[in-house]
Amino acid sequence: MSGTRDAAPRPVDLLVTDAYLITMDTERRVFTHGAVAIAGGEIVAVGAARDVEPAVAPARRISADGAAVHPGFVECHNHTTLHTARGAFGDTISWNDVVPEFYVPYWNTVTDDEEYAGAALACLEMVRNGTTCFVEAGTAFEPEVVARAAAETGIRALVGDPFLWDIGGFTSDSPTVARAPYSTDRALGLLGGQLWRNDHPNALVRGHIAVVGMASASDELEIAAKAAADRAGVVLNQHQSYCEVDAADDDARLGRHPLRHLNEIGVLGPNCVFAHMNVLREDEVEPVLRSGMAISWNAPASMMWGVGGATGGRHAELYLAGAPVGLGSDSSNWANSFDIGRAATLAVLAARDGRCNRSMLSAEDGLTMATVNGARAVGLADRIGSLEVGKRADLVIRSDRLPEAHPVTDPIAAMLYASGSKSVDTVIIDGRVVLQGGDPVLVDAETVYRRVDRAAREVLGRMGYRTPRRWPHIA
Ligand SMILES: [Zn+2]
Repeated sequence: MSGTRDAAPRPVDLLVTDAYLITMDTERRVFTHGAVAIAGGEIVAVGAARDVEPAVAPARRISADGAAVHPGFVECHNHTTLHTARGAFGDTISWNDVVPEFYVPYWNTVTDDEEYAGAALACLEMVRNGTTCFVEAGTAFEPEVVARAAAETGIRALVGDPFLWDIGGFTSDSPTVARAPYSTDRALGLLGGQLWRNDHPNALVRGHIAVVGMASASDELEIAAKAAADRAGVVLNQHQSYCEVDAADDDARLGRHPLRHLNEIGVLGPNCVFAHMNVLREDEVEPVLRSGMAISWNAPASMMWGVGGATGGRHAELYLAGAPVGLGSDSSNWANSFDIGRAATLAVLAARDGRCNRSMLSAEDGLTMATVNGARAVGLADRIGSLEVGKRADLVIRSDRLPEAHPVTDPIAAMLYASGSKSVDTVIIDGRVVLQGGDPVLVDAETVYRRVDRAAREVLGRMGYRTPRRWPHIA
């Protein structure tokens, strides 16, 4: 609480009040009748409504009607532009076939406009599901289309350079991606090309360093990428150790397990956020923990391939050992949604699976991974992830006007296990209302849907791709 009762009320832009306020601050304070005041996109007061309200004179007031209010979710790793082809390949395709049969033909024909159509859908979907910040994983051929979609929707974003890879790796048996050939010179030439976006301290769309990774980067590229991230004070994001195939490729090439190798060549550090990490061997745990690196646990997408980090995965142990484990959605081509609340639920449940241990991870752990840990993982812990004075105002207002929110007993458990994103009502990012009553404020949803449906028809049509079905008799 800032200000005193005796002082004149401080003019603020927005007051969110009558909230079950889940701050996610270091003490994990919850105010059953809480309020948040926002001015200039920043949180200027937070606490019990009886303390906050008399101290401020808001230009606008939003009542949460007693429902939960919490920090916006942070999406640590997704392929924003691949939304254009969500669900295009069915459940019957194999891991070995998916890159040569689907991704490479797709990447060799998709246009910037089609990528934009997918990115706009992805941004709308994320906001609708309570995500207020996302990391694009570095596979948009034109990062500007992601930046534009994010800015138009009003969502915070970190974009990276396109397809920085130089040794093939998990696509080594595949035809070349024409716009992104494996080349150290090309990758080093593009590296850091999005960092200009950070010139403004409060830029909503920022740059970071993205490498495709996962057995596709040479040591030279890895070391240069880490150095660029260090110089710019941003995170290095890459895929790593998704499944046995790429881990075995790394093992054979490096002569040791990849996390040990990356640690020994100086690539691991607190500003690393590696996606997946589903296959970690015993000797890789210690270097991961000691480095302070973050992990994007992409449970829903990985579970599509049966590598989601349940039995045999180490995400829960790493989280409990203090590693900043956040959450990601990865690729929508798995027919996956960009829904970090759902990712939190599935991560918590996956951690219990095979262990018969209900308390392995809790709903509170899911919320921690989705908010404060996500902010730490993407290098924005000083700006977002909790509702505290001085942070940017990224928050979600839930609604209790649905069956799954009742009876009102434990609002955190209700969000994670019952209502999910259905209870997301209003989303505020950088102090701006971008979703209200479940509808986007800045973009027209119907326009977004029509555009991406047309783009999907056109790109899949050029590929001659038909979704394989186990039940083929569709009239
Ligand atoms: Zn990915």
